[in-house]
Amino acid sequence: MKKATREQTKAHNKNLVLNAIYAHCEISRADLARITHLTRSTVSEIVTELIDDGLIKEIGLGESAGGKPPILLCIESEANHVLGIDLASGEFRGAVINLRGEIKNRVDLSVENITGEEALLVVYQLIDRLLELTDRPILGIGIGAPGLMDTDNGVVRYAVNLGWQDLHLGELLKDKYQLPVYIANDSQVSALAENSFDSNTQVDNLVLIKVGRGVGSGIILNQQLYCGDGSGAGEIGHIKVDQPGELCRCGNRGCLETLISSRAIRQKAKEIARETPHAYLNTSVADIESITLEDVYAAYQNGDPDIQALISHAGQSLGQVFASLVSVLNIQRIVIAGSMSIFGDGLIKSVLNSLEASALPALVNGTQITTSKMGEEIVMLGAASMVLQHELGII
Ligand SMILES: [Zn+2]
Repeated sequence: MKKATREQTKAHNKNLVLNAIYAHCEISRADLARITHLTRSTVSEIVTELIDDGLIKEIGLGESAGGKPPILLCIESEANHVLGIDLASGEFRGAVINLRGEIKNRVDLSVENITGEEALLVVYQLIDRLLELTDRPILGIGIGAPGLMDTDNGVVRYAVNLGWQDLHLGELLKDKYQLPVYIANDSQVSALAENSFDSNTQVDNLVLIKVGRGVGSGIILNQQLYCGDGSGAGEIGHIKVDQPGELCRCGNRGCLETLISSRAIRQKAKEIARETPHAYLNTSVADIESITLEDVYAAYQNGDPDIQALISHAGQSLGQVFASLVSVLNIQRIVIAGSMSIFGDGLIKSVLNSLEASALPALVNGTQITTSKMGEEIVMLGAASMVLQHELGII
């Protein structure tokens, strides 16, 4: 027992030092000792180990505080690379990512009308292509996939768009590539990306809602992704908010997804254009059937009243669901990501109004809602962050 405890303490201390170097970019051994509350000799010992591991390096001298100028340390960003994979964006996207969360290479492969075993072959192709693009040791493969995951066992329990049910994706990839593999839902890994790589949103607790073709959320509690007992925490897209509501692809009616997903918004915008001859979309788009979300946004920006009402209603529904989340978890930081985040401040305003009307004011006051600045790479970055957390303990 004693030995295990000593080893655990050592690993814990190493983790503390590595995280402090990661967070501060350039830092001296003395400052590390101050920040981590470890003795200087313990810090020096760990730093030597980390340099030997190739994870950090000395990068020159800092400013002297009177005596000898200190040697500064930083992460060796290219020591290892990570593969971050996004299977939730209509095409399969992958990136080679360094330890700083910088994308070194990207590969996107089309999966139009491809499901089941065929889609799995595309995942292999994607990983093969990415591995050819890097000569660094690979720390692991992180995957953000749509649908319900069993995160602990790396199993895709149900991904309706990909036609996958109980697919042991983690095991298949581990066997094929002999690398650690981590899988979570795309919204969950997006929350990790926001928390790890956007310095403005590094907080203890955070909810990120991803609104694109589907709707889901990721919950960060005490800087850790919270997946719940069945890995499905944050699966808010199928909460009923409309009575009786439209039929949802899950089989129920009136789900949040039927009101706010990009698919739903495009569909409703088409109906508006068909029913209203003077709708902005009829003047701006040649073929109503192929309306994009960007077309809807242009109509919104140009003040089309029906489109503005549509987005406002979508925001209200989202605010209603946030009211439950904020009331249960008392989290004050909410980030909206995914393609619908282009509606920005207008959408946020409707969400906030509805949130304020649906929850205890004392809880809601101070809630900050923003849109994510991470763009379409968010799932890949979050998937990479998951690997960094598990393999190096970097938060
Ligand atoms: Zn549903």
